[in-house]
Amino acid sequence: MTTIKHVDHLAIVVDDLDRVLGFWRDALGLPLAGTEVLPEQKAEVAFLPVGDSQIELVRPTDEQSGTARFLAKRGPGIHHVAFEVNDLAAVLLQLKSRGVRLINEQPVSGAGGSQVAFVHPESTGGVLVELCQAAEE
Ligand code: ZN
Repeated sequence: MTTIKHVDHLAIVVDDLDRVLGFWRDALGLPLAGTEVLPEQKAEVAFLPVGDSQIELVRPTDEQSGTARFLAKRGPGIHHVAFEVNDLAAVLLQLKSRGVRLINEQPVSGAGGSQVAFVHPESTGGVLVELCQAAEE
């Protein structure tokens, strides 16, 4: 079995990054580690570390993106939970062999040079799950 290391981040879809940072950074006091535009994900993301994990604020940059459709349909809120793994390709093979429904059968580019893949909520109990593998040091 492959190893799940920890909860890497909890992602929240927002429509206005600055306004929402007013809570997470300014009121709650979490540090803002940085923001990044992800062309492949059609989103701008902000990461706020908390312990071993992070809060990821996701603002869609394209109305056709999955997060934009999520926002239009359900409004701002929790979007996915992400787990860091050692070997993403191996985890994907393992899940596939168990009939788990994957959104990405192959890893795609994530924030900070990471590789990520999403698992369909249908297989997880209703939660979009992201698996991520950090960039090589
Ligand atoms: Zn994520």
